[in-house]
Amino acid sequence: MIEYENLYKTNKSFLADYKKAFADVAKKGFYILGKAVDEFENEFADYCGVKNCIGVASGLDALIISLKIFRIKPGSEVIVPSNTYIASILSIIHCGLVPVLVEPDIKTYNIDPDKIENAITSKTAAIMPVHLYGKMCDMDPIIEIAKRHKLKVIEDCAQAHGAQYKKKKAGTFGHCNAFSFYPTKNLGALGDAGAIVTNDPELAGQAKIYRNYGSKIKYYNEVVGYNSRLDELQAAFLSVKLKKLDEINNYKRKLAAIYLKKIREDFTKPFVQDDYYDIYHIFNIRHPQRDKLKKYLIDQGIRTEIHYPVPPHKQKALRDLLGDKSYPVSEAIHASTLSLPISYGHTQKDIYEVAEKINGFK
Ligand SMILES: *Cc1c(COP(=O)(O)O)cnc(C)c1O
Repeated sequence: MIEYENLYKTNKSFLADYKKAFADVAKKGFYILGKAVDEFENEFADYCGVKNCIGVASGLDALIISLKIFRIKPGSEVIVPSNTYIASILSIIHCGLVPVLVEPDIKTYNIDPDKIENAITSKTAAIMPVHLYGKMCDMDPIIEIAKRHKLKVIEDCAQAHGAQYKKKKAGTFGHCNAFSFYPTKNLGALGDAGAIVTNDPELAGQAKIYRNYGSKIKYYNEVVGYNSRLDELQAAFLSVKLKKLDEINNYKRKLAAIYLKKIREDFTKPFVQDDYYDIYHIFNIRHPQRDKLKKYLIDQGIRTEIHYPVPPHKQKALRDLLGDKSYPVSEAIHASTLSLPISYGHTQKDIYEVAEKINGFK
């Protein structure tokens, strides 16, 4: 059987270093906001090419705190792609702001810059581009529009650790940008974790205050903050894995290249563009008979996933808020997309086998 992903296999080669990291942290006897978090923050900021990194408890919290520190007037609008993972939209709602969904480009699955301007109103405060599946958004036009309309940009980089657009990495374009280190992400922890990256020292300071009960000096609270700290242990594990992130990304690109070359042309494969370095957090194909294909692959011993089966505006949680409009591009993607096995724990042989089985689908 070829699993969609076995996280133990993904992490197996790091196990000895994880054990050492665990022992180091345990021995220090200091488990929250200590040296391991400091070190990881510096390393990850360097890796991304930004000045500041602030570790937090999850990707969702990284988005919420990123929005919160701009002190945007409640009721203001934030532009977000209609096909994103629900977390991006939830962060906007949790900050008392209004998500305005903009359709993706059917080729890239990322927000269509040509459709952003139409969605801007006098209430628009920010744009949240999401680099879906590990491919960056077309950032030049997005930044140009944001500058012209004086909007904040918060990149959702949860699926794009190390991905590049015109030689610049995810997290270097927006004012304040969010990463998730959920275990399945290309840089995944052994539990929940996230981070905010920014070049603005003022925003970085605010994010540090918000993640720790709104206080800079212990027991003195400046704002109504959160408890959203990155654990020392997770930070230590992340430092171990970060050293191999480029290797992980390159390996997944190598697996993706096999799929791109081998899979029949009547399946819609990810769009490859010059000047983009895609890291394939997810490798999806699209086919009109997706459900039949998924079932056929299970019968062939291959597990796949769907990212995502239901678009956000059709989710029970958001129907009342967003359900009155239709988003046909997003709906077409949700109805036809299938994510294939692609992880650091898969062999090239696994990938050849998946491609071969897909090509046998009638
Ligand atoms: C994973 C993910 C998040 C949320 O991250 P968590 O760490 O699970 O909170 C946000 N946005 C996108 C696009 C994601 O894929």
